[in-house]
Amino acid sequence: MKVIAIVGFGFCGRLAFAHLAKNSKNSKIIIFEKKGQNSLGPAFSSFSPHYILNVPVERMSAFSNQPQSFCEFLQKKYPEIFKEIGENGFSPRRIYGEYLEGITKEAFVEVQKNNIEVEFVEDEVIEILPCKQILNQVQDDVILHRHPELVSGSSVITTKSNNSFQANEILIATSFKQSNLPFDLNSPNLVKQIWDFPKTFHEKNFTNETICLIGSGLTAVDVIVGLSKKNFTGKVFIISRRGNLPKKHFAKIHPVPNLISVSDAKNGVVFLTRKIRNFLRQNPQYDLRYIIDSIRHNTTELWQNLDTKNKKLFLRLLPYWNIFRHRAPAVSIEMIEEMVESKQLELKKKGVKKISEKNGKIFVQIHDEEIECDYLVNCLGFEFKPEKYPLLKQMIESGLLKKDLLMVESLDSKIHLLGGLNIGRDFECTAVPDLRICVEKVVEKII
Ligand SMILES: Cc1cc2nc3c(=O)[nH]c(=O)nc-3n(C[C@H](O)[C@H](O)[C@H](O)COP(=O)(O)OP(=O)(O)OC[C@H]3O[C@@H](n4cnc5c(N)ncnc54)[C@H](O)[C@@H]3O)c2cc1C
Repeated sequence: MKVIAIVGFGFCGRLAFAHLAKNSKNSKIIIFEKKGQNSLGPAFSSFSPHYILNVPVERMSAFSNQPQSFCEFLQKKYPEIFKEIGENGFSPRRIYGEYLEGITKEAFVEVQKNNIEVEFVEDEVIEILPCKQILNQVQDDVILHRHPELVSGSSVITTKSNNSFQANEILIATSFKQSNLPFDLNSPNLVKQIWDFPKTFHEKNFTNETICLIGSGLTAVDVIVGLSKKNFTGKVFIISRRGNLPKKHFAKIHPVPNLISVSDAKNGVVFLTRKIRNFLRQNPQYDLRYIIDSIRHNTTELWQNLDTKNKKLFLRLLPYWNIFRHRAPAVSIEMIEEMVESKQLELKKKGVKKISEKNGKIFVQIHDEEIECDYLVNCLGFEFKPEKYPLLKQMIESGLLKKDLLMVESLDSKIHLLGGLNIGRDFECTAVPDLRICVEKVVEKII
């Protein structure tokens, strides 16, 4: 019997489970999730009805062959909301969480029908080693005598509670974590990881405090929307070196003529940027968002056709690209614009020099100014150093993974990376429309 392990039970882990439940025969599935079976991951947890998705409803189906799946769910379960926002609108995140829970529930029914054994382990995976490696470390006959179940060709998964499991195929769906603030401060008023914000958000009844956010991306947008929906009347500071907020999603897509083809990538980044710049100069009705959308279907291929030197060059433009690529719903940005207008929100284009605390207040030193606030929230983006992820670090050291330009790649045909961890290979693999395809491909390969 084939044993398949899924490490991480967020979007990708759940989706992989759903596909395996339907299609794998004569197998056992072991699921590892450090936050427990009910955790939906930071994106789709149900802490506030105010947080909305940043991808329109019509693109959020979990299944590429049923593109209407999420629309239908929303229409059936929340007809009022669907009527209000429509297919192009942005659903509350927690409804998406419910949709995922529904998919998971169905998968648990499916495994029973198909006689698939499932074990759920609520624990953090801290080590994965190929049996071959374990067997080589100790005299083969000794270890085999003690662990006759060890099968060369499988891997041993160890959890924080020091339990070990063996699996033939391992799906790593652990995703990214948030970058840490480069300052050490222990204060109950400092939200070090944005995933902890919901707790703070619920516990504190924010009314008119001063809240300082470090980072101005989609996470900051989420926090501000949440605050403002709670009728927050206090002051918000956003501190960010570049000070760029995400761009708005546009209501109507104007197709850009075929400007970039995959073969253009061979000519390098300078050629591509020149071509785009010239086009935008001659066609001021467009901006980079339209170009990005017009190459969206082959961004991965374009990336893969760049040589290493050009990939590195492109990465220098990444902060700029991200502003246009990762967009926020127009209503959210308009709300922020209003807050800027009324001076409730101030955007400081500066780097943080120092953070300190005195008498329950937090002081943020930026350039020649000090901002005093009641709460400080880390809104930095994802961490792209694999060595900062204990499991990935261990797997790199064991030769199962290797670092690539952005994250990691697998060196073992039985270890499969799902979702964002493939960013170095696929480049576009952080949102649902890309994640679902990644999961489908991996599961197909395993089956
Ligand atoms: C705040 C936020 C909002 C987003 N909004 C959208 C959106 O609106 N639309 C969209 O398309 N995309 C969105 N995304 C991007 C993406 O779709 C989601 O992050 C999605 O949940 C990623 O799925 P995943 O399975 O890769 O990771 P996750 O859903 O984050 O799941 C990873 C899981 O692995 C577990 N885990 C990690 N390490 C271990 C370990 N060592 N052992 C055991 N378990 C472990 C974690 O606890 C977690 O449950 C958003 C992302 C974030 C962070």
